[in-house]
Amino acid sequence: MTLTHPVDHKCISPRQRSFVVACLWIALLSVLFAPVVKADGSALTHTPYEEQLDRYLSLSDREAKRVLLQEVIVGLNTRHAPSTYVRAWTYRAFEVAEDGDVDNAVSIVTDLVRYAERNPYPDVWSEVLANKVALLAWQGETTQALLVSDQLAEHLIHAENPRVRYYGNVVITGMFRSNSQFERALTHALYAQDALSEINNERSATRRLGLNRQIALIQSDLRNYPAALEIVNRSIREAREDSSLEEDIPSLLLMKGYLHGQMDQHQASIDVHQEAIEWAERTNQPGIVLVSMNNIGSTLIHQERYAEAEEVLSQALEQALAAENEDTAHLIQFNLGYIQVMLGNASEGIAAIEEHGAYLLEHYSESEQVDLYTYIAKAYQRAGMFEQQAEALLEQRRLNEEVFQSEREKSMSEMQARYEAIEQAQQIELLEQRNALQERVIENARLQRTIFILFGIVVVFGLILVALLYRAARRANLRLKDANKQLEFHSLRDPLTQLLNRRALQEQMSKRQTDERRAQPGQHPDAMILLDIDFFKKINDQYGHAAGDQVLKVIGERLATLARSSDMVIRWGGEEFLIFLRNSDPEKLAEITERVLRTIGDEPVQHEDMEIPVTATAGFISLPFAGIPEKDLNWERALQIADMALYIGKVHGRNQAYGIMGLNAPYEQVQPLLERDLSKAIDQDKVDYIIVKGPQK
Ligand code: GH3
Ligand code: MG
Ligand code: MG
Repeated sequence: MTLTHPVDHKCISPRQRSFVVACLWIALLSVLFAPVVKADGSALTHTPYEEQLDRYLSLSDREAKRVLLQEVIVGLNTRHAPSTYVRAWTYRAFEVAEDGDVDNAVSIVTDLVRYAERNPYPDVWSEVLANKVALLAWQGETTQALLVSDQLAEHLIHAENPRVRYYGNVVITGMFRSNSQFERALTHALYAQDALSEINNERSATRRLGLNRQIALIQSDLRNYPAALEIVNRSIREAREDSSLEEDIPSLLLMKGYLHGQMDQHQASIDVHQEAIEWAERTNQPGIVLVSMNNIGSTLIHQERYAEAEEVLSQALEQALAAENEDTAHLIQFNLGYIQVMLGNASEGIAAIEEHGAYLLEHYSESEQVDLYTYIAKAYQRAGMFEQQAEALLEQRRLNEEVFQSEREKSMSEMQARYEAIEQAQQIELLEQRNALQERVIENARLQRTIFILFGIVVVFGLILVALLYRAARRANLRLKDANKQLEFHSLRDPLTQLLNRRALQEQMSKRQTDERRAQPGQHPDAMILLDIDFFKKINDQYGHAAGDQVLKVIGERLATLARSSDMVIRWGGEEFLIFLRNSDPEKLAEITERVLRTIGDEPVQHEDMEIPVTATAGFISLPFAGIPEKDLNWERALQIADMALYIGKVHGRNQAYGIMGLNAPYEQVQPLLERDLSKAIDQDKVDYIIVKGPQK
């Protein structure tokens, strides 16, 4: 047997209390869906509420749990489903105890016992008594708890519900183990294992870990550290592979660190405890952080690194007191006292060791008490208190004899072997299940990938198609636009001269704003110069039709060159042209017309080797004419007057222009004559006109 530092002992510590509670919680994780039937045929369990209670176990938020449990308790009826009824109230008792209201928890359990007397089903009794054992242990009533454990074991033989059987047997296992009844503890661990094999759901892995932890603790109690370490390492590997077991990792690491310490592997112990602290912080388990810190301090004590040990332990103590973690606080203070003794502060150190040691002895299992006495004895020795040292050693020997009986160890190893065999079978089954699950996951992923790829292909082809269609549509659109433009161009242009045609002017005039524009200051009226080429028939006859065409084209070009951008040059008819001038000062109209005539007549038109002399006759007029609103004298009427003026120009010898500049009498008076016979109006001096001569050769 290796001598160990008691203060190392803490993975389990503070042992009885928190350990039993931990066992209960592990047990509570078990879940069973199948209703168990009462003798009269009605169900012992109420399936919907059982499901609610299963959900309760999976919740981590305390307040949410409390609310859910309250709902179940309010909804449950005492006459129905007694098993579900006691299960719910058992959880309530735990809640109350955890809140520190032990009296209330006791009264709940007392009521539950009375209830079990009235409803004496083995399942009901088992659940109630398991709860009672847990509570007694919680209160430190070990003897009482052991007595009730015997009763519980009786009822468990007849219990049917595997969840209850698992739960009850785990409670007993913990109880007997803490009392060094390892053989009985193992027997019940085997029962729990049996029950576990009947429950096959997602919680099985967690429950198996819990049970394995019990076995590892028993091995540890029996000082069989390598065996314990093997179980713990296996559990850690399993927990790391299954994210649902993450919360179990800190306590497993804590135990591993403890076991390394027990085997004098100090550095490994410190490293693993450090890892336990990280995991405990990550999964929010402050109790484990504290015990790990204590264990690191204890390892440092073992190495006689007292200053470092004191620092870690003081820090841990501060946190333990702040968290009101009484058990761990006592443990840490015991260790701090031990340091004091080792440093030579005997009186102060011994006082602490006696005070906190008494607390720990009361709460520790016998095996742990053996360890504790080792250090109590060492402290007395260092303080020179030899009488007390002898007493401590005597007490230790007595306990040792109780704990380790070689005979018992023999029958136990058989049981352990059996446990191991079943455990391995379960592990294999679990692994197979996990592999099957993984294969399904992989297959699903593969299927998903295929669907994704196919979908991707469809999308890509779809996009390509859309892009092609879009491009085709765009091209067609552009072509259409082009065609429309061309159509518009051709519909408004004369094909021979490329000048605007009659339609272009009509269109323009229909859009043209009339009077309001001219009302603005600095605005002149528009003007029209109508031209007709002289003796064009003769040109055709003399030079040929193609030459005639050439003349039309060249004259068109010349007029276009002369015009401003705002003007319109139009091929009005066969050899007739119209120039529409915007905002054109009437005073300058004669001059412009003269330039037009010169443009036409100054130079002969060249066609092949022929030089074709061309002149034209014109009539011109402003619009509006003589201030007469266009609604009374519109552009068509004005153009008619210009046409008449042109005719007068032809009659009077051609190569000249007649401009009608104004009226010498009111419009209403002159109108009939003006529209019918311009010559007469001129003769009667009703009209103001001007003559512009073309170029004279
Ligand atoms: P006037 O001085 O009185 O205007 O004499 P004119 O010969 O020009 O008069 P008229 O109106 O009798 O003749 C016009 C001629 O123009 C008739 C027609 O054959 C010719 N003509 C009309 N359009 C075209 C055309 O596009 N090309 C050619 N080469 N000749 C055309
Ligand atoms: Mg003509
Ligand atoms: Mg003519």
